[in-house]
Amino acid sequence: MRNPLMPDYMFRTFDEVTPEFLSALGVRAVLADIDNTLAPYEQPEPDERIRGWIASLAAAGISIAFVSNNNAERVELSNRTLGVPAYPKSGKPFKKNLAKAMAAVGGTPDTTVVLGDQLLTDALAGHNLGVRCIIVPPIRDKKNGFFRFKRWLERPFVKRFKKRNGIAW
Ligand SMILES: [Mg+2]
Repeated sequence: MRNPLMPDYMFRTFDEVTPEFLSALGVRAVLADIDNTLAPYEQPEPDERIRGWIASLAAAGISIAFVSNNNAERVELSNRTLGVPAYPKSGKPFKKNLAKAMAAVGGTPDTTVVLGDQLLTDALAGHNLGVRCIIVPPIRDKKNGFFRFKRWLERPFVKRFKKRNGIAW
């Protein structure tokens, strides 16, 4: 069996995950993490890059929902001008709210991906749901001990993935 922490795909940034790439995989729905995947913790509202990317997905018929372990205030600020289905305090790595998000955007396990920056929450939650997971490196990590510990736990999986897939960055 596949290791549930192992990403299915890795990209350097969220907007390298293009509508063309997703369409080629048959993806119609993206369940996206916010913090450190789309924006650093300090950035409350989506910038032009995030909006442009979401608009490009929408133009290709790909829906997005936010699935964040952060609080409702943070998620609402991110989503205020976007208005996509959003699930704060989503409880990743558990799949309950991801399943709700997937249903809200009309996805099925075959047509949905999770996009995030953490293997222990995002990848694990996605694999618990039975969907493919795309991982990007964190935009700007918190420097506290807990985060360092989590990154340390993730490192061998990221390393193995990159080696297997010939990723040099
Ligand atoms: Mg994150």
